Amino acid sequence: MQSSMLSSTRLSPPRFSTSFSKRGQNITRRQNKHNLRVYAKDFPKPEQIDKTENYRIAGDLSKRFATDLKASPEQKKKVVIVGGGLSGLACGKYLAEAGHEPIVLEARDVLGGKVSAWKDKDGDWIETGLHIFFGAYPNMMNLFSELDIEDRLQWKVHKMIFAMQELPGEFTTFDFIKGIPAPLNFGLAILLNQKMLTLPEKLQTAPPLLPMLIEGQDFIDKQDELSVTDFMRKYGMPERINEEVFISMAKALDFIDPDKLSMTVVLTAMNRFLNETDGLQMAFLDGNQPDRLCEPMKQSIEKNGGKVLMKQRVKEWVLNEDDSVKHILMANGEVIEADEFISAVPVDVMKRMCPEPWTKMPFFQQMKQLEGIPVINIHLWFDRKLQNVDHLCFSRSPLLSVYADMSTTCKEYYDEEKSMIELVFAPCSPIAGGKTNWIAKSNQEIVDATMKELERLFPLEIGKKAPDGVGAKLLKHAVVKTPRSVYAAVPGRNKYRPSQETPIKNFTLAGDWTSQKFLGSMEGAVLGGKLAAEVVSAKAKGMKTAGLKKINDDIMAEASTFSGQGWKRPQKMEDESPVVFGAGYVLEENDEQQLMTIDPEQLTEMDGRSQATKDAVQEAVLNRTR
Ligand SMILES: Cc1cc2nc3c(=O)[nH]c(=O)nc-3n(C[C@H](O)[C@H](O)[C@H](O)COP(=O)(O)OP(=O)(O)OC[C@H]3O[C@@H](n4cnc5c(N)ncnc54)[C@H](O)[C@@H]3O)c2cc1C
Repeated sequence: MQSSMLSSTRLSPPRFSTSFSKRGQNITRRQNKHNLRVYAKDFPKPEQIDKTENYRIAGDLSKRFATDLKASPEQKKKVVIVGGGLSGLACGKYLAEAGHEPIVLEARDVLGGKVSAWKDKDGDWIETGLHIFFGAYPNMMNLFSELDIEDRLQWKVHKMIFAMQELPGEFTTFDFIKGIPAPLNFGLAILLNQKMLTLPEKLQTAPPLLPMLIEGQDFIDKQDELSVTDFMRKYGMPERINEEVFISMAKALDFIDPDKLSMTVVLTAMNRFLNETDGLQMAFLDGNQPDRLCEPMKQSIEKNGGKVLMKQRVKEWVLNEDDSVKHILMANGEVIEADEFISAVPVDVMKRMCPEPWTKMPFFQQMKQLEGIPVINIHLWFDRKLQNVDHLCFSRSPLLSVYADMSTTCKEYYDEEKSMIELVFAPCSPIAGGKTNWIAKSNQEIVDATMKELERLFPLEIGKKAPDGVGAKLLKHAVVKTPRSVYAAVPGRNKYRPSQETPIKNFTLAGDWTSQKFLGSMEGAVLGGKLAAEVVSAKAKGMKTAGLKKINDDIMAEASTFSGQGWKRPQKMEDESPVVFGAGYVLEENDEQQLMTIDPEQLTEMDGRSQATKDAVQEAVLNRTR
């Protein structure tokens, strides 16, 4: 073992090979806009990711759509899917393969929802979020293989890179040693890292996590009432592990601090990632997500007889007397009929659109316990190439979560001379555990705060301490706010995630927030969509479905008193701002007005108020719909 691999290290600038030297490595020759020839190096697809049990199960489900779930011409259904994010598109893909006619309706002029991206006036891509693909994303990995686009994943070296809090500009790593199987490889990666935890701290941390590996999902589910911090204290884990590991983990998983995040989320992630040898190996997509991922999904749907339509805003689910869906009413007044209807919109949008008779049903009442968490994604273009790492970095800074120099990590954004740093800013509101409501702040204030944090991450290159006393110049920025992103996985929420199957005979739910064994993530979105397709396909063939997920006792106990009250029903949703659709955008004045109308708490300025007031507002936000 080379000890140099394991200690904190000032990561050297990437080396771009000038020859196609290493066998098995995909080295791509590229030419940048200044006519320099450069070579971006990918690591090969990890050997174990398609050999896991989870990968096999995911692949088996994919195959069923073309075999036992395949509809005969008489069984073929017209299925309207509302929402063209990953979940809606995955649902459409598998339904088309099962012989049905899916029609995906997306409100915006771009596909992808939370993975959508668009070009600014200079032709640079702006992404809703910095997105990372993990080896332990079995449905996503199957999808890439089925679409024959596996070469679009740029796998990075198998390690996790953390900025050192006390040593500006320095990093430390968890290195996964090839040939060592899971979960030993992770245990070893932690044991051998000398910089983040002491040996006694490591030894104290391991025992409380062992039941997660041994007992599995049962143990994991039982921890949902505890926050990460509660769990740590209950099981005597050293406080420092919070600072060293859990803060960055919680922010990366749910854009939220550990005292707000359910321990089930951390354990679920650990259980999925650590049980698979290549589970934590990460990949970047080789370009913008709508073209490089959503487009092949669209083409697959269309090739098999379905449709994907954009600028199609669904206004209302119109019901029959028996509460089933009669048709959908589009914003332009058009009526669309179908045999089956699927919602693949975010939970906040589904709550707004929930027809009045359904709001009294325990099944839909569960949604009141779920609410999207705000997050901000920032792009910063610099006048020079910064010290850069060809990987994701965990910033471990109070305001930021993860970041990457996309001018190095991603082929489409490659630039040998200038860095484009993409950063996730979290927690960015009191709902997520932060002190400041950054969603209500101006873009300039957010950029200024980010630049301050970057002075610590790049001390020799950004800010006054740089050798020239000025540092790298920021050429331009883009601040994308997603006021309601993935559902806030605060303690006690997991049990309220509804099944894809609903009590309404022709209505099914998809989306990353529906019940599935992955978190609110791209993998969760694909799996949620696939499970919704399974429900509809099985019903069409008269086959048994998995059935409704059991509804929690507290919801059932309150069932007799349910009224339609407390549902977020904004009066005005006529404008077409992306925030109305649970998406992210560089907010203009019009978008802010929209946000004020549909979600006023988001723009409540909390600075300068007492902690008691902040707590009260936060509690009100979380309880508003209970
Ligand atoms: C900043 C950020 C970073 C992230 N990083 C990662 C990551 O690294 N790894 C990871 O796995 N996940 C990550 N995620 C989470 C991931 O993006 C989501 O979990 C996933 O994309 C959700 O997909 P979805 O299809 O369920 O929902 P969405 O993407 O929200 O799609 C819903 C769609 O419905 C449409 N819609 C809404 N209302 C209507 C209407 N009335 N009519 C028609 N259409 C409508 C919307 O426009 C949208 O396109 C990140 C998210 C964000 C915001």
